[in-house]
Amino acid sequence: MAMKTLVKVLVVALVGAGIGVGVGRMMAPVKETPPTTPLGKLDWGNRHFAQGKLSHPRTDPETRQKLAYEGQHPFAVVLTCADSRVPPEIIFDQGLGDLFVVRVAGNVPDALQIASVEYAVEHLDAPLVVVLGHTQCGAVKATVESQGKHLPGSLPALVAEIEPAYRKVRANYPHLKDKALVERVIRQNVLESLMKLWERSPMVQHLAREGKLTFAGGVYDLKEGTVEWLELPEELAPYAAPLKGEKEDSAEKKQATEHH
Ligand SMILES: [Zn+2]
Repeated sequence: MAMKTLVKVLVVALVGAGIGVGVGRMMAPVKETPPTTPLGKLDWGNRHFAQGKLSHPRTDPETRQKLAYEGQHPFAVVLTCADSRVPPEIIFDQGLGDLFVVRVAGNVPDALQIASVEYAVEHLDAPLVVVLGHTQCGAVKATVESQGKHLPGSLPALVAEIEPAYRKVRANYPHLKDKALVERVIRQNVLESLMKLWERSPMVQHLAREGKLTFAGGVYDLKEGTVEWLELPEELAPYAAPLKGEKEDSAEKKQATEHH
């Protein structure tokens, strides 16, 4: 094997294993007992989906009727892109009544999106807010590529929402360009959206401080089908949603010590 090819193979292997891509995780085999935390459930469902093992839960007529009569209690709010390749219920393998979904190109929270999130966390008691970006996002790409150019229709309003993330990445990573630049802005845009939601919503802040609300930010990989969970900004770190509950955590630790 030529040296160049070998290096390429190694890089692909490392990136595939989640090394060098922030706090990415390796593809662990799907366990049989689903996790108990809201984020754990999403992560679990996503692994099913990525492995082609969708279970399509809670789409039967009984569930539909029960929800209609008794009301909804979604366990997560997902603010994500309108991209047709990123449907939350499918990529997280969830059913009716599970997710309160807010979608807009570029997953940016303006007043109406914030109001939707507030309704879900305050009125429906949803305990988790996820902002989910995705690879190859057209809205982010348009922002990066439109610098200095005029965009048609109402697109300038959307691009203006993504621009703070773009400017931050430009300042911090001046050497990045093309695809690498877009991918970095996608990640930054998720964090900016979380911060925007936090800063513009006293209600969201209040619920988090009361211990009733946690947050997560992720990037969905269109090709792999997996979601990489990002490290949250400092202000939100105390309210980061756990992947595992306390019980699961201690049970796993116990199992690990028994094996060694
Ligand atoms: Zn998008």
